[in-house]
Amino acid sequence: MDSIDRAIILKLQNVTKNYGPISAVNDVSLDIMAGECLVLLGPSGCGKSTLLRLIAGLEKPDRGKIWVGGELASLAGKTVIPARKRQIAMVFQSYALWPHMSVFGNIAYPLKKKGYTRETIAIKVKRALEQVELSGFDRRKPSELSGGQQQRVGLARALVAEPRCILYDEPLSNLDANLRRTMLRLISQIHETTGIGAVYVTHDQSEARA
Ligand code: ADP
Repeated sequence: MDSIDRAIILKLQNVTKNYGPISAVNDVSLDIMAGECLVLLGPSGCGKSTLLRLIAGLEKPDRGKIWVGGELASLAGKTVIPARKRQIAMVFQSYALWPHMSVFGNIAYPLKKKGYTRETIAIKVKRALEQVELSGFDRRKPSELSGGQQQRVGLARALVAEPRCILYDEPLSNLDANLRRTMLRLISQIHETTGIGAVYVTHDQSEARA
């Protein structure tokens, strides 16, 4: 079975990954439909980040299969669709912004790599900044932004690539409780309106419930 129903944007079947004697991911199966948000809650070291890396195509499973956008993407010991072609974006706890680039430069970067024209890049970056409610911040450097604003830039950079799914790796752990609530509302609103799928990992029970 190399292709499946395309409405299932992400499918994992019996996915297992070991690092030597350590079982990082053990026999995980799941389906995610367009616009659906899957939350994975678990303590540090239970394999959440490894699972995201497997989905993104940064690791190969030892056993099992992964389909992305209806196409077989990974199977035991083999990457069929490389990470850059999966249309999957990641948002990290550490923001992972380039400090020397402006907000515009950070968000535009994936579009430049894809060879879009300057005009198209400007339009797409403007739209992404609107989506994360940061219009007018394009000339600032990351050091001139609060933690919450930096994470919005990370989210805008993920959105601008028009992914089918965004993987969130403890994205709000560095923010205080109020900001976390605001960001969670923004994230769920974005996924509801765009239909982009989400896998959201956290060790925080209240965040997972929200
Ligand atoms: P979590 O994200 O839930 O904190 P991880 O997926 O980072 O968990 O790690 C799961 C387990 O796999 C841990 O025991 C970790 O030490 C181990 N692990 C993760 N990545 C590697 C690696 N590249 N090499 C060896 N062990 C690893």
